[in-house]
Order: sequence, then C-alpha cells, then structure tokens
Amino acid sequence: MDSLDLRPPDAPASPPRDRAPRPARLWRPRRVLVTPAALEHAHGRAMLARLEGLGLPVERLSANRLTGLRQADARRAYAEAKATLALVVAPPTKLRLQPIPPSADWRFDLAEGCPAHCQYCYLAGSLSGPPVTRVYANLDAILGNLAAYAGRGSVTSASEARAGEGTTFEASCYTDPLGIEHLTGSLSAAIRHFGAWEAPVQLRATTKFAAVESLLGLPHNRRTRLRFSVNAAPAARYEGGTAPLADRFAAMGALARAGYPVGLTIAPILAFAGWREAYAALFADAARALAGVSDLDLTAELITHRFTPGSKAVLEGWYPGSDLPMDEAARSRKLTKFGGVKYVFPRDLMAEMRGILTHDLARALPGARVLYWT
Ligand code: SF4
Repeated sequence: MDSLDLRPPDAPASPPRDRAPRPARLWRPRRVLVTPAALEHAHGRAMLARLEGLGLPVERLSANRLTGLRQADARRAYAEAKATLALVVAPPTKLRLQPIPPSADWRFDLAEGCPAHCQYCYLAGSLSGPPVTRVYANLDAILGNLAAYAGRGSVTSASEARAGEGTTFEASCYTDPLGIEHLTGSLSAAIRHFGAWEAPVQLRATTKFAAVESLLGLPHNRRTRLRFSVNAAPAARYEGGTAPLADRFAAMGALARAGYPVGLTIAPILAFAGWREAYAALFADAARALAGVSDLDLTAELITHRFTPGSKAVLEGWYPGSDLPMDEAARSRKLTKFGGVKYVFPRDLMAEMRGILTHDLARALPGARVLYWT
C-alpha cells in the first residue's frame, strides 16, 4: 500500500466474501527514522533488520527526539507524517495502564499511529503533533508489565458479556497493529506472549487490515481475539488506505478457521439513506465469511459515529474535501466523562438504529455475542 493513496479502498459493489485471503498490499513507509535508544533493545534491532531487509530508506538519528516534523501547511505535514515510520522507546507513562471500558479492562500500546487515511479517524485530536507512526522497541518491558494488571479490571456490562475471558488487554487504541505487523512483528510476539500465559487473560486488537498469514500458525491458545472493523459500503468509502472489505472478511474467516476467537467491530455506524439494507448486506457478508467454522467464538461491537469540536477541526485540516457528515445541527450535544463536548446521533434515531441493527445482526449471525452498542 502506498501510504499516500487517499483513494477509497474498494467499490461499493459487493464482491464474494467467502474466498481465501489474497496476498495483502502492505504499507511501505517512504521514510524510516531510527532513534539510538530503540537500538538498545533486541526488538528494536530486530525491527531494524526487517526494515532494512525490505529495502526501506532508513535514517539513523543521533538523538532520541523526533524533530522537524511540524510544518505551517497542515495538509503537507499530515501527508509526510503518514508516510513516516519511527522506531522509538515507549515513554514510562505507557507502562502505567489505563482502564478502557467498554472495549477491555486495560489498554496497552505496541505503537502509536496508523498508516491508513480514514476520514473519520478516531485518532484525530488525540495524537499530539503530526501523525507519524511510532513503533515501540521496548517490547519486552511492555509485555512484561502486563502481569501486574492480570486479575484486575472494572466490571461493566461489556466485561460481564466477556465473562470467562479473564482480564482483557486492548492493543489497538492508538494504532492498528495488524497494519504494521509486517514491519514490526510486535503483534505476533504479543499473541505468543498471551498464548503462553497461565492466568486467564485475553489480548484484543481491532484492525482494518487483512495480512493475517503470519498469524495463522502461532500458538495463540485462543487467548487473542482479533476484531475486524468493517462498515457498510457507503461508509467504507471513507476508509482510504485500508484493506478492501472483502479481504478483511476473508482474513476473519481464515483466523476463525485457525481457531482464533474473532470479532466484528461495526464502526462508525452512519445514518445514510438506505442504512438498514446496507448494514444487513454487511452482516450477510460476515455470515458468509464465517460459514462452516467449527467452534466459532464471535463477538460484535457496535459504535455509532460521533465527533468532538477538536476532532472535527483536525479532520477538516487532514481531509478538506471530505463529505463525511459532521453537522452539529443534525446531532445531539453531549458531555464526555472528561467534561468535553461530543456530537452523537439524536436519541430517537439512536434508539431506532440500535433496535434494527442489533435485530438484523442477531438474525444473520445468531452465534454472535454483542458486547456493546455505543
Ligand atoms: Fe484511524 Fe483506525 Fe483508520 Fe487507522 S484504521 S486511519 S487508526 S480510523
């Protein structure tokens, strides 16, 4: 994948979903920055060897700070940052885990940033500075740190729905770990780590990518649930640089057949004309991709579109031509738990969509456990 390819990933026509995965288009960053501190870690050196082996242009920095990334032209700074991968050491704050309901008990980070170009990107407004993809070299410390959190977690309706899965750790709050796995190997290492863990724990990650071949044979011990973030075709056109929906479904089927628990993250749900039929078609595609899987363990998370004044401003700078609906007058204004403002669908529309979509999902995928609607 060219990191600057802003075209919609696939056409709205519905291709067959139940085929074997085809070779994925993989991101090749145009610039790779390597900090000296990253090379003090075995995983940092292993990533560097991978990157050099792929023939990527590596720049070894003399200091650990990434500088010179800001520019007066926000659009240009965005484009250059999105084409850049940096090998860094995660700061100590990353080792103090935060609860992340309803997605999981705890959040941890293998990286920060993502090479895709979703016009609604969840990271807009929450990353500081240009969105360079930073991958963390101190993987041993990041994974070793998790044990202190096993057995601890908050009780929510979503965590009750996940009962039996143990303490859950979410790895995709600030990145798409599968989208960069061919450059890092970090997700595979995390899957092995959780697979070997004695305590009841689960690794969770969400992705809009499809290159799962390297994960299929790993000793995952059913301790990793990879959820595929998918959307109805009229909404998926906002997801530049991601894997086509058909490939995501094929990847989900392949993982499920390899014994992994899998999930659907339906997000962000949009209320375009014909939304019921379009989401019903999406659920039918998912059911086709998973047909015949023995021991299927499938969850679903449904997330409606929302934005904040800050995320809207960032997204308008990144994607000035986007027609993604972000009209405050068509939304309800709500306060976030941190006292900020967010705009969500009006209550009546929200209730209608929730009733219809959860009904249609249950009909298409009766074995799916819905973890939450938000
Ligand atoms: Fe943002 Fe996720 Fe899209 Fe990456 S895949 S650009 S993190 S919404």
